[in-house]
Amino acid sequence: MSYKVTLIPGDGIGPEVAQAARQCLEATGIRFEWEEVIAGSLAIKEFGTPLPEYVLKSVRKNRIALKGPIITPIGTGFRSVNVALRQELNLFACLRPAKSIPGVKSSYSNIDLVIVRENTEDLYAGIEFEEGKEETIQLINILQKLQPKKIRKCSAISIKPISVTATERIMKFAFEYALKNKREKVTAVHKANIMKFSDGLFLSIARKIAKQYAGKIEFSDCLVDNLSMQLVKNPEDFDVLVLPNLYGDIISDLCAGLIGGLGIAPGANIGNGIACFEAVHGSAPKYSGLNKVNPTAMILSGVLMLRYLGEEKAAVRLEEATRQVIAQGKFVTYDLKERRDDPTAVGTREMAEAICERLR
Ligand code: NAD
Repeated sequence: MSYKVTLIPGDGIGPEVAQAARQCLEATGIRFEWEEVIAGSLAIKEFGTPLPEYVLKSVRKNRIALKGPIITPIGTGFRSVNVALRQELNLFACLRPAKSIPGVKSSYSNIDLVIVRENTEDLYAGIEFEEGKEETIQLINILQKLQPKKIRKCSAISIKPISVTATERIMKFAFEYALKNKREKVTAVHKANIMKFSDGLFLSIARKIAKQYAGKIEFSDCLVDNLSMQLVKNPEDFDVLVLPNLYGDIISDLCAGLIGGLGIAPGANIGNGIACFEAVHGSAPKYSGLNKVNPTAMILSGVLMLRYLGEEKAAVRLEEATRQVIAQGKFVTYDLKERRDDPTAVGTREMAEAICERLR
């Protein structure tokens, strides 16, 4: 049997790391039928839109996708394809394990954290009002009637919805993940002391759901600013972290830093019976086409995909092969070398090839 998977190579360094992951996944012996589709800046040239309908159709049909990163222009240009994909396909949970790998230069050696980020709402919902626009002025006028705090007329406004439905769903996902994966504790991260209603709701639902798992999974909560400090000081105090969208995004990069960088941080976006696997990192345009960047994050995203498919043995083999190549330190990219200008660093393709070699 073979698995039909939508492959979205992405743009920037996306196609290079996606190809590396594809090659390593195939080297496990599991059979895949890839349905390759284009999204991002390449799709604009061909379809006039960064997220053509046929991409969504393909993922909806195959129920599983492997995706390279896609550029999002800052401030202007098209909205994030990555965020749109998660919203359109209702991939409500973003799962990002951050686990130390021996051989990777880092101030920490025993990091084993899992981030569960809510993917569909919060300030990432994309409900925004541009400064000076008619509807923005209207909104400001309405808000002035509804509450006493002054809002400057020259403001831009982004809306932060946090719902009971989405919060219950993400909390259940985090606790079920903890249970299935034999984790001990879930920590809900928030800023409920300031955002009493939105983050307050997130926290109160976290407490409610935690009660259903009492005696099985420990629960704590932490303010996001305090968590940022605690993670750097005492990362071993945490296990599974569950966060609203924006904090989840920021803390994911922090955790990637704890394990030694974005080059080794994998991720998955999961909905009901549908999932899209992608690295935490972006499209790093300055390295595009140079066969230079680290393919590990994307390969380990492939490991998460194998686990999701129930191919545990292949997942363990690919994870181990990747860890061995890194531990050996010979066929690794520049970012995994002691010095970044080490001339013995290999390229993306060569590192992937070394991993495949261990699987044969
Ligand atoms: P980035 O993650 O692309 O790169 C930041 C830096 O991290 C790079 O300059 C590089 O030094 C390092 N890095 C990233 N990936 C690496 C790898 N595989 N190996 C070695 N080093 C690596 O972040 P950015 O520069 O802020 O964003 C670039 C673009 O990517 C933006 O348009 C952003 O919106 C987009 N982005 C996309 C996704 C996604 O597709 N899911 C995620 C984050 C950012």
